[in-house]
Amino acid sequence: MSCIFCEIANGERAADLVYEDEIAVAFRDINPQAPTHILVIPREHIAGPLSVDADNAPIIGHLVAVAAKIAQQEGIAPDGYRLVINQGRDGGQSVFHIHVHVLGGRRMSWPPG
Ligand code: 5GP
Ligand code: ZN
Repeated sequence: MSCIFCEIANGERAADLVYEDEIAVAFRDINPQAPTHILVIPREHIAGPLSVDADNAPIIGHLVAVAAKIAQQEGIAPDGYRLVINQGRDGGQSVFHIHVHVLGGRRMSWPPG
């Protein structure tokens, strides 16, 4: 099974990495929707939020912690930022390896589109 985010995580596909550790990798979105738009992914292939259970939930918590670190690094923490995890067609998911979108640098609207 080929997965573009697994390929980025294991270095087979180029990406503009901003952070990595033994559990997670973060890189700039190729089609940014805000001045700062970074994706945080687990090294482990988890298809999406619907595949999160008690066993792998700590990994998702780690992604949120990494997002906070990145927000500090990027200078978007003081004004705030938005985290998004899309699931399935109606959620707008296009890559089926779970990822947290970190969006900042502009005021986000609500409700989301
Ligand atoms: P989704 O729609 O699944 O929530 O988000 C997938 C995101 O991955 C999109 O924002 C899209 O721009 C981004 N993306 C898709 N392919 C690549 C790629 O090869 N490299 C990078 N850096 N981002 C990608
Ligand atoms: Zn994957």
